[in-house]
Amino acid sequence: MSDKELRVSKIRNGTVIDHVTAGQALNVLAVLGIDGSGGESVSIGMNVPSGKVGQKDVVKVEGRELSQSEVDVISLIAPQATINIIRDFDVVEKNRVERTDSVTGILVCPNHNCITNADEPVKTAFEVLDDGVRCSYCDTIVREEDVAEHIDARGAGETAL
Ligand SMILES: [Zn+2]
Repeated sequence: MSDKELRVSKIRNGTVIDHVTAGQALNVLAVLGIDGSGGESVSIGMNVPSGKVGQKDVVKVEGRELSQSEVDVISLIAPQATINIIRDFDVVEKNRVERTDSVTGILVCPNHNCITNADEPVKTAFEVLDDGVRCSYCDTIVREEDVAEHIDARGAGETAL
């Protein structure tokens, strides 16, 4: 195997988000606030054959671990995802995402009059419903299939290694 192939398939330190629902890899990157401008080393596999789910996406991010808020939002758009923490090429931790009762930050409220969209230092908060999320401030509901459209493009806090 060449050096280049190695770099694509393995990362030294960082996070591999595996078993991502096929088609959601770019939304996962949006949750992480990664658009390439930060210089992160990222590899993405899309529609990779997977025995369990048929097809999956895989996102590998070098030098970065995920915050709880990021994991919470990923659980909404990729409920089968597993988060693998890599240190020195070894998987030191492997967790399946779990659906939580609420998510804070990262998502934006679609209601322009919501206090979270005003010039106030208020972090968004949503209660997780069976088929979507509800803004804790104004009760606006975002349906599950629309959640990915309400990811804050500016990105949320980063957890650097
Ligand atoms: Zn709101």
